[in-house]
Amino acid sequence: MQGGKAIRISPRPGTFGAPDPEREAVLASMNSEAGPDVRRRFFELQRNRSEGVLSAPLEQLYEVREVPAEVPPRARVMASVDCAACGEPTMETRIRRLYGDLMCAPCFEERLSGRMPLDAPSRRPGL
Ligand SMILES: [Zn+2]
Repeated sequence: MQGGKAIRISPRPGTFGAPDPEREAVLASMNSEAGPDVRRRFFELQRNRSEGVLSAPLEQLYEVREVPAEVPPRARVMASVDCAACGEPTMETRIRRLYGDLMCAPCFEERLSGRMPLDAPSRRPGL
């Protein structure tokens, strides 16, 4: 299968700049007893910081580069089975069976671990 093109977008180190000592001090004093002046100053500093990031050129914040990409193989279409516990349609090759009940993986694990009540084994014909 032929490879395609893709881009990788990753944040540049130090995108948000060096820590601001005043902001750090105000943040440390933010608690239930902080007065309105402390809160007002914190939100002012926070807004300044946010505006700095939002107005920065994209190239300063993120590195954008082209990377080779392998196109995944064509997916096989499988039938779905409704999970006996949550009802979510689950690809038949991913379905799990516990005491005759067909379940999706999360429900299977939850029931097996005892976090979900374990029903008595069902005696349905054909199972
Ligand atoms: Zn389920």
